[in-house]
Amino acid sequence: MDKIDLVAHAKVNLTLDVLGKREDGYHEVEMIMQTINLHDRISFTKIDTGIEIISNHPEVPIDKSNLIYKVAEMLFEEFELTGGLRVNLDKRIPVAAGLAGGSSNAAATLVAINRLWNLGLTSEQLAKIGGKLGADIPFCIEGGTQLATGIGTDLKELPKCPQLYLVLINPPLSVSTAKVYGNLNLEQVAKHPSTDKVIKALQEQDREVIINNLDNLLENVTLKFYPEVANLKDKVTELADKALMSGSGPTILGFVSGIKEAEEIKNKLEKELTREHKIVVAKTVNHGITEI
Ligand code: ATP
Repeated sequence: MDKIDLVAHAKVNLTLDVLGKREDGYHEVEMIMQTINLHDRISFTKIDTGIEIISNHPEVPIDKSNLIYKVAEMLFEEFELTGGLRVNLDKRIPVAAGLAGGSSNAAATLVAINRLWNLGLTSEQLAKIGGKLGADIPFCIEGGTQLATGIGTDLKELPKCPQLYLVLINPPLSVSTAKVYGNLNLEQVAKHPSTDKVIKALQEQDREVIINNLDNLLENVTLKFYPEVANLKDKVTELADKALMSGSGPTILGFVSGIKEAEEIKNKLEKELTREHKIVVAKTVNHGITEI
């Protein structure tokens, strides 16, 4: 096999909690991660030599700083692979949006190289390798609904989430994840997400309890430092059943009962917000990297 085409999905956090800071500087987290249908399409082709990335998105680097490149380079070295790789990235996941787009691309690269060079590695082995380059990469491989603990790389599969529909609104500003974590003062946090309640609701397939308990601890910081994100969340709170920030931001998610409601909110916000806002209707899916 010389070519493989993969779909790399975005993720959202149904809950995101930070439990403490470790001595090595990493934060101890507890998050319920969920794959959504918004995705990038990536073609991987074996070539004679080198790693080449072609992207349709101006904000995505195509040099060594691209996570695709880093994963490929690491695997080529570790497994002493011969030949090279050309990657054609059709980017649709908003960049630096808190949707794990880069991590998902990295996960796809692990899957692709494993298949193209017949490495025979299991998903668990790929996850372990991916975790060295980014905490969200292991989740993106199998995706679905999983509980992530430790620094985010210890994963436990949870019952499949009942179908949820959402509108994603990505405002035209970038949020520094390092700044958000750096300014998080756990002693000042009044309430942590009810992760256990959401896990129980997943077991009982209780959509209403899940939606009512969607929660992201990092909102305490991002909404304070980025008032535009706070205003956007207020606006979405008025329109959707529940508004939630994704990851460290700045994307805001509006959860609703169906696709029609999601489309209505999208249409309304497109009239109210500037054109630089990316607004997408999405739904939850139960799988990670898939072949086209
Ligand atoms: P996370 O939620 O995992 O923190 P994110 O969704 O907020 O990630 P990404 O879209 O992964 O953010 O991009 C973060 C930065 O990583 C970008 O600004 C870009 O410069 C860099 N980057 C490296 N590789 C990629 C890639 N394959 N796709 C997108 N961005 C990438």
